Amino acid sequence: MKKYFTASIFLVAIVAVSFSLSNHVMAQIISNRYLTPYFYDSFFYHSLYYSISPFNAYYAFSLSPSTPFYPFSEKYPIFGCNFLIPSFTFIHLNQNLQKAKNIIFMVPDGMGLANVTAARIFKNGLNGEPLSFERLPVIGYQRTHSANSTVTDSAAAASAWACGEKFINGEISCHSGGECSSEQMPTILEIAKTRGKATGLVVTSAITDATPAAFGSHIKSRSCATEIARQYIEETEVDLLLGGGIGLNIAPCTMSPQDIQALIDKAQNIHGYTYVDTKAEVQAAIITGKKKILGLFTENYKSPERYRVEPWVGYPDTEPTLTEMTGAALDILEEENNGFFLLVEGSQIDWANHGHDVNGQIGETLAFEEAVQVVINWINESPLRKDQTLLIVALDHETGGFAINGPYGEVSQAGDIIQDGWTSSDHTACDTLIWSQGPGSDKLGKALDNTDLFTVMVNIIQ
Ligand SMILES: [Zn+2]
Repeated sequence: MKKYFTASIFLVAIVAVSFSLSNHVMAQIISNRYLTPYFYDSFFYHSLYYSISPFNAYYAFSLSPSTPFYPFSEKYPIFGCNFLIPSFTFIHLNQNLQKAKNIIFMVPDGMGLANVTAARIFKNGLNGEPLSFERLPVIGYQRTHSANSTVTDSAAAASAWACGEKFINGEISCHSGGECSSEQMPTILEIAKTRGKATGLVVTSAITDATPAAFGSHIKSRSCATEIARQYIEETEVDLLLGGGIGLNIAPCTMSPQDIQALIDKAQNIHGYTYVDTKAEVQAAIITGKKKILGLFTENYKSPERYRVEPWVGYPDTEPTLTEMTGAALDILEEENNGFFLLVEGSQIDWANHGHDVNGQIGETLAFEEAVQVVINWINESPLRKDQTLLIVALDHETGGFAINGPYGEVSQAGDIIQDGWTSSDHTACDTLIWSQGPGSDKLGKALDNTDLFTVMVNIIQ
């Protein structure tokens, strides 16, 4: 009798362990997202899921960090007591487990929909191919107002994306009257950092301009370039910084050029950055496997990329274009096993629109469009990357009230510049577009507020 009892116990133990193992394998397959999101909605998936074990659902659910069971199931992946619990917990499993290893956030500063039309007509003609970001599968739009103004500036708009709250124009991820630190209100870049991810800021403005500053620093005023750069290097420790120079301090910030040089020296000698200031040096840094790079290619902002519209203007040989900086950033950041958060900004579309400079805004929009194509190509190189990378192209605000007033009664050809009209020399308050693809993008294809983008990113980041 005792023999049968021992055999029964043994059998029960084998069955229990088998259940747990099958649960574990299934849950790993799901939680690691080896399969495309469409698979989770399929009949085959649901049949398989329920047929392997009635406990799979609970087990996989318990592996999701958003459940209270997670610490236990992570610690005891095989021998957890999950097989005692029925499978009623299978609720929106794919939503809980689909996570983004990489987030690439791309901003064409000040670009409105009319900029897209003008650039597309110039490049491809009226019936030509869409621009790169227009081919992204999910399209939504967002409100852009700030905490104190119907019309936002870039600081408040980028801070809303970075922290998920409304800010006063000029504030950089910092409420002047209250919360103002990475501990109180971490940005999405800082959150990525705490998850072990590499981080990068790539811009065509000074590296301390409002948009990158909102992701990598906290400060009451966007005018203090040196303090913003100090925070990038000494506090946030952004791994990759590529752009113009440190930028200019505007009163009351008064650090001298010597202070700026001292900061660059400190970045190299104390904080482990490789400093580069030419295109060749960036390439050399990539080849030698450098991971922390401070790339400042001009004194202030980078050279405008007008050459696509005005070929006679040219572009400096020593300076990487936005496309080249973006490619370099992907080469460097993809080496990080835990993934990365990368911000890429086409900063000067805004400036061209402020100046009602049609050739300038088309040139800058096409430069940005090319940089997005580089990112799309990188993502498409691997199905795994495609499943693990959230790409967002989001516009912070429209600038200039730019409109296309003609030609009327005449068909534009590729290479033509449209007839422009303007309502403002400053930003305008109209809602702006969001294009996206990858995990989490299903939440971005509707009417949103700019603060919602933070919520989507923070919920989906792995
Ligand atoms: Zn502006």
